[in-house]
Amino acid sequence: MRPTGKLHLGNYMGALANWVKLQDEGKYDCYFFIADLHALTTDYADTSKISPNTLEVALDFLAAGLDPAKSTIFVQSHVTQHYELPLLLGMITPLGWLERVPSYKEMQENLANKDLTTFGFLGYPVLMASDILLYQPQFVPVGQDQQAHVELTREIARRFNQFYKLPDREVLPEPKVLLTPSPKLPGTDGRKMSKSYGNTIQLTDSEPEVRKKLKTMVTDPARVRRTDPGDPDKCPVGDMHKVFSTTETLAKVYEGCRSAGIGCIECKGWAADALVQVLKPIQERRAGFSDKQVEEILKDGSRRASARAEQTMREVRSAMHMTRPTEVDC
Ligand code: ADP
Repeated sequence: MRPTGKLHLGNYMGALANWVKLQDEGKYDCYFFIADLHALTTDYADTSKISPNTLEVALDFLAAGLDPAKSTIFVQSHVTQHYELPLLLGMITPLGWLERVPSYKEMQENLANKDLTTFGFLGYPVLMASDILLYQPQFVPVGQDQQAHVELTREIARRFNQFYKLPDREVLPEPKVLLTPSPKLPGTDGRKMSKSYGNTIQLTDSEPEVRKKLKTMVTDPARVRRTDPGDPDKCPVGDMHKVFSTTETLAKVYEGCRSAGIGCIECKGWAADALVQVLKPIQERRAGFSDKQVEEILKDGSRRASARAEQTMREVRSAMHMTRPTEVDC
């Protein structure tokens, strides 16, 4: 998760809530980090917000239920191996592989106000591959939109393993995608909820803020007058209900909207009720952490992540015949 602002309900439903579930299943040794180096790929001209945003995202992680006693939670730039492996993997990554990453052209077009014709932006999938491979993981829990990045990570790992070998094992095992359901949550303007569109409901929004935002949310365009029937399947508020409301409320929404028995204001009020219920425990947990505690949690997480990443780097250096004088070959 990049520290480009506070997290919103889309981030929660699309990623965080799944991470908490995976963590609590207890089957996996999970690593979750705040990708501040990735924030630099687009926000390099003004880096002043990255550090305060990192703290906010860490608080959002903890508020959502990530638990430092169960998972390793850290900041990418605090683990220096995240600077080291991308350089080595960059040496073996053909330019063509990077140029055909779908988001490369797409983001350049979407963020036309920023000059993204940089080495760092073109190379961000190599940074991403390193972020993954440093922990020699079996799985990467992502939604469908991130599958292409994991596929590229697998290709880079394969190429690395062809060039550089250790006698008894593969240095960078190819990780598999652990597909997690990620319903695309609409924002208040009906487009995908996203920090860059200014249409979000943040995990820290108070009840009055949530209700106010919901009131401005766009609805089924066919419902011009109160007496016009509508269709929740064509309405962003309907999509909110599908994700957050109980089956009883959802049934009332379908019936009331299609028969024009209820108005949009009433329907939005019910959606707001459901959102407030989801946000309440998250906000209560958030209030239990001081900034100092969060800093300690991140420090400890970075120490643990660094120890694990260094284990991988020793193998990488050894396989590449670049062992340091103080190290023993693997
Ligand atoms: P943003 O667009 O707000 O900058 P990111 O691109 O940083 O969000 O997304 C971080 C994670 O949250 C990704 O795993 C992404 O799939 C998920 N995510 C973001 N927005 C949504 C949304 N509206 N619905 C579902 N998942 C989302």
